Amino acid sequence: MAPRLLDFVRCKCGHPTPLRPSTLAPEETDPRWKETDDEPVAVACIQCKRVYSAAGLPVESILTEYGVSPYDPEAPMRVFRVFLECDEIGCNSPLRVIAVRKSDTTVEALEKEKRTTWTWRELKCPSDHPISWPQWHDGEG
Ligand SMILES: [Zn+2]
Ligand SMILES: [Zn+2]
Repeated sequence: MAPRLLDFVRCKCGHPTPLRPSTLAPEETDPRWKETDDEPVAVACIQCKRVYSAAGLPVESILTEYGVSPYDPEAPMRVFRVFLECDEIGCNSPLRVIAVRKSDTTVEALEKEKRTTWTWRELKCPSDHPISWPQWHDGEG
């Protein structure tokens, strides 16, 4: 696997998350990104578990040793996509959230992490409906 330039954004605390292969590298015209590039996207920080919108945030291109899966299939970290639904009944446009986790993370583990540790404020779905937090109740109030 070759070093790869990735686009990173940072949460409020400054923790970096790779979003995708760098857009500053013109040879990286991966069609898997092209189709979804315009969608609003949020990021779930691996360290503080804060979910924040990446729209309008400055992007840094950083050279990484291993790249990131699925773009680099052998990379130790993988870009997962998780969806958050808004409170609007019948809305079919959940917010896409990128979570970069170890490549062997299971969907179940990620769902559990989402339910138990993620926090956010003022997130909106692509149709501009607020997404409330917390969304899940475990019966304890
Ligand atoms: Zn963070
Ligand atoms: Zn909505």
